[in-house]
Order: sequence, then structure tokens, then C-alpha cells
Amino acid sequence: MLELDKYKKELSDYLNNSDNILLICHINPDGDAIGSMLALYSFVSSKGKRVDMISPNYLQEFLTWMKNSDRINIFIRDRKKCLRLIEEANLIIMLDFNQSDRLAEAEKPVLKSSAKKVVIDHHLDSDNFYDLLISDASSSSTAEIVHELVCKLNDGFFADIGYAEAIYVGIITDTGNFEHGSFTGNTLRLIADLLDMGLNKERIYNLVFNNFTESRTRLLGYALYQKMVVIPEYKTAYIALTREELERFKYSKGDTEGFVNLPLSIKGIDFSALFIEKEGFVKISFRSRGDFSVNSFAAKYFQGGGHFNAAGGDYNDTLENTISYFLEMVKKERNSED
Ligand code: 5GP
Ligand code: MN
Repeated sequence: MLELDKYKKELSDYLNNSDNILLICHINPDGDAIGSMLALYSFVSSKGKRVDMISPNYLQEFLTWMKNSDRINIFIRDRKKCLRLIEEANLIIMLDFNQSDRLAEAEKPVLKSSAKKVVIDHHLDSDNFYDLLISDASSSSTAEIVHELVCKLNDGFFADIGYAEAIYVGIITDTGNFEHGSFTGNTLRLIADLLDMGLNKERIYNLVFNNFTESRTRLLGYALYQKMVVIPEYKTAYIALTREELERFKYSKGDTEGFVNLPLSIKGIDFSALFIEKEGFVKISFRSRGDFSVNSFAAKYFQGGGHFNAAGGDYNDTLENTISYFLEMVKKERNSED
């Protein structure tokens, strides 16, 4: 666990000395990126500070019900305004990522800005693009770290239901509703506090996890039945989806979220990959069980990273070539394990 007292003074100095605070999360924001950003927004704005939020691109629909999510500026929609917000900020707090290229188009202006830069994160091996890094790879989520920081800064629980929901969404999305990831007793004690506040967990669960379209559910069936390839000798399984297939199932952003976890439920499989064909490149998600580090695998071969058991990356080639390369690298890594 992080020794947060160490950061309390530095972070509160940054906050006190800034009258123009900008929060920004990573591209293709997940529940933790948005949850941690909205929670921090609720807290900081309650102190009477001017605070703005940017996401590099659009939010997935399952996050748009969250309090203040309509106040998030979308960089690719409102470039001019976002560039102005970045330029005017004197403190930029970045949430839930460890490499500045996860800011996509916002990367250059953010790095160029003379604002103080704070990163709050829980990924492994952060690059250095900050003045202050508050990161704990053993934490369930960035939302959990934000909550602990807010409790410190506030000298106690910050009681606001929108805030509580945002923290909760960050934690349940990064742990698959407490199925995986590094949640601890500390996480569950924090959850107990949120429930005591009156947080409606069934409502949030339904909004986050039971909100899919029919075509997304059929795409999942198709992916598992027709497209999953299992290679028992390498304890590996993968699914690759082409653009044509995604279109056929009326793909919309976020529809394939969670698919990559499912092959891990097969006995003897401890490594799973999901390939999504994009224009000119392939986006890949990796998951593992046990001691196979997908963070290292993604960093070594796919210009990516993430966590020990959940990571991602991409490859600038056709889907077919990406899979061939992946299979070669799997062979290499798995043969060197014995
Ligand atoms: P997902 O597979 O759900 O997109 O991502 C799993 C984890 O890996 C997330 O924590 C995410 O931040 C990280 N991740 C996904 N893609 C990339 C990537 O291209 N680069 C890096 N550094 N991390 C990634
Ligand atoms: Mn996260």
C-alpha cells in the first residue's frame, strides 16, 4: 500500500497553489479512468476551485449516466477548447496511465504545457512525464488511490453520492466486479464505507454490466463459438475479429470489452489474447492467470503495457501477420519457460 502521508503535503500544496486545474485521462477511457477523474472532480470542485476535465476521445455509453460525465470535454470533438484548457491550466492531473502517448492527440500540448504535472495511476513501470507520480501497482484501481488521497486531503470521508458512485465504478470495472485484479481487504473496507453511505450497488451493476445490445451479445457468442483458437500445448487461447465481422454485428465502441477474459475459464489455459482489426493496425488485449506476465509480453513485442495479468498493445500490420507474429512470440516465450 502507498504511504499516502508522504504525498499529502505535496499534492495539497499543488492544489492550493493552483487556481486552474485540469484533469485528463487516457484514450478509450474505461470505468476506472472516468470514475477516478469524476471522483477527483467532485472533490476538487467542492473546494471552490476551477477544475476542468478532458478525455482524449468519446466515452463508452455505459459511463454516460455518471454524475458530471456531461462536463467532460472530448478532445477530438472540441479541439480548440481543449487546447485552450490545456494552455490555461497551471496544474494538470493525469489519471490511470503510465505512458504519455495514452493521451493521443492531447499528448503534445500537455507535455509542452508549463503547468505542474501530477500522475495518479496503478500501472507498472511508469515513464517519466510528471513532476509528481502517485502510483501503486498493487492497488485495485486508480479510483482506490484517488479515494485514499481524498480521505487524506479531506481529513475524513468525502460524503457525496456522485463521488461514491464514481469510486465504485472505477473499482468494479477494473476488478470485473471483484473477480480479478489486485483488490485487497483495504478495497473491501472502502467498499463497505461506500455501501454504508447508501450507494445502490444493484443499480450501478446493471448500468455498467447489464446494458449491452442484442448484437453485442450475439457477437460474443460468435467470437467464442466460431473464432476462438485454443492451443493447449502453449496454454494459450486467442480470438481475432476482423472489421467486416465487427460491422456485421453492428459493433460500437466497447462492445468487445471483457471478451478477452473468457478463454481463461478453460482448464489449462493461462494466457489469452484478443485481436481487433483497426484501420492500418491491430489493437490487442492480453490477459493471464498466475505468473505469466502479460505486461512484459505486451511491452516486449507490442509497444504496450499495463498490469501483470492485464495488458494491451498494438501492431502496425495486417491481422493475419499480427497473428503469425504473435504465435511465433508465444512459442518463443513459452518454450523458454521450461
Ligand atoms: P484493455 O485490454 O482492457 O484495453 O487494457 C488492459 C490494460 O492494459 C489497461 O490497464 C490498459 O491501460 C493497458 N493497456 C491497454 N492497451 C495499452 C497500450 O497500448 N499501451 C499501454 N501502455 N497500456 C495499454
Ligand atoms: Mn485502471
